[in-house]
Amino acid sequence: MLPALEAALVAAKGTVALLLIDVVDLPALRGRLGFEASSALLQQLAVQFAAVLGARGQVLRFGEGCFCVLVYPVHNRGHAVLAGERLVRAAADTITDSAVVIAPELTVGVALYPSQGESAEELLRKAQLAGTTVRRGGGRVRVFDDSGAAELLNPWALGDRYAEALRAGELQVFYQPKICIADGRATGVEALMRWLQDGCPVATPDMFIPLAEEAGLIQETTWYALSNALPQMAALGGLSVAVNITPGMLHHPEFVEMVRSALSSWNVMPDGLTLEITEGALIADFDQAIARLRGLRDLGVRVSIDDFGTGYSSLSYFKKIPADELKIDKSFVLRMSTDEGDQRLVETIISLAQQFKLKIVAEGVENRATFDMLARMGCDYVQGFLFSPALSADKLAIWLRNHAATAQPA
Ligand code: C2E
Ligand code: CA
Ligand code: CA
Repeated sequence: MLPALEAALVAAKGTVALLLIDVVDLPALRGRLGFEASSALLQQLAVQFAAVLGARGQVLRFGEGCFCVLVYPVHNRGHAVLAGERLVRAAADTITDSAVVIAPELTVGVALYPSQGESAEELLRKAQLAGTTVRRGGGRVRVFDDSGAAELLNPWALGDRYAEALRAGELQVFYQPKICIADGRATGVEALMRWLQDGCPVATPDMFIPLAEEAGLIQETTWYALSNALPQMAALGGLSVAVNITPGMLHHPEFVEMVRSALSSWNVMPDGLTLEITEGALIADFDQAIARLRGLRDLGVRVSIDDFGTGYSSLSYFKKIPADELKIDKSFVLRMSTDEGDQRLVETIISLAQQFKLKIVAEGVENRATFDMLARMGCDYVQGFLFSPALSADKLAIWLRNHAATAQPA
């Protein structure tokens, strides 16, 4: 494999993106379709990828359920991401022999040749590492990040460092305000974790949260977020707070108990806490996920479906999810003021959520035009850089005071 790959890289004569595409749900597909049909599906995927690439790339199989794809010429990171997204879309309606349409769940890690490595081995390692930072549950593409590269090259070292950082208090909880469109007031915040050393980020949460999950530290991480956020919000006059929950945490047998004990430890009313759970986390083991969500709502905690629109859940699944709120993924919101397709998608999601009596939050609101559109469409809450990025608790207190003095309805 490696010599063939090196030869292909050299033959491509120019800049090449190496994409490692992993079929994350292969074990589930094997169970569902059987070995033969799932192998045929992998074969079919390779054919579809090759058809998309034409003369601009090639597809190599790479172990069980993984493809190594070369795309050339690639002009920059953005170009590589677009290529990855096209391949993910091409896979979205793979038809098996028995004419069943399957949407396999893919993650795509990318490394660029020659700028990020000249040997096949180095590129594969970087692409693999980038792939591990793809958020679970949405077919997403991630290019290897050069910043802090030496450290990130070794995910195990980063995993060990993360464990130390968590215990040494290098992790901080930041808070992004959530604004109610009707009256312009900040009614709550989302807790977002930051890993800082001397004020500088060591890694982004998109990188270290999956590591925490893999290293078995997600329970500690979630507890850390809850035990910072709940007392902090009480101190800030009873704002509600949203905490992100990973798939692994949702399925943890002690999760509901942990939430109950966090609420009672800090004497917070359950409806002051919202748990944000991605659509993808629910699909993994749907029945168990639904039972957990019911358990949480029985406590009185609010449940929010995060990153809505990026997973592959069907409407028949959607109607069964016990939730209070739906968050429209920022990928749609960011583009809606310039892209009519995204605008229509957001409008459709809002009316769907209204039919199901869910509150709607749009994340990634960066400009006034987007805010005005969302207000017209009937969205309830917004979060985004137009108002504020995530802030440390101290800065949040200042921001809240200033905002209260100037807040006005849409
Ligand atoms: P998310 O839950 O989708 O969080 C929203 C992300 O969008 C945050 O990135 C936030 O900083 C960013 N964002 C907010 N407004 C804007 C905007 O106007 N424009 C743009 N371009 N971006 C905006 P962040 O903080 O890097 O977090 C990334 C992801 O990491 C989060 O995505 C969440 O899934 C995960 N995460 C962060 N903290 C935690 C945590 O404590 N626990 C867990 N389980 N996951 C966490
Ligand atoms: Ca979230
Ligand atoms: Ca999101």
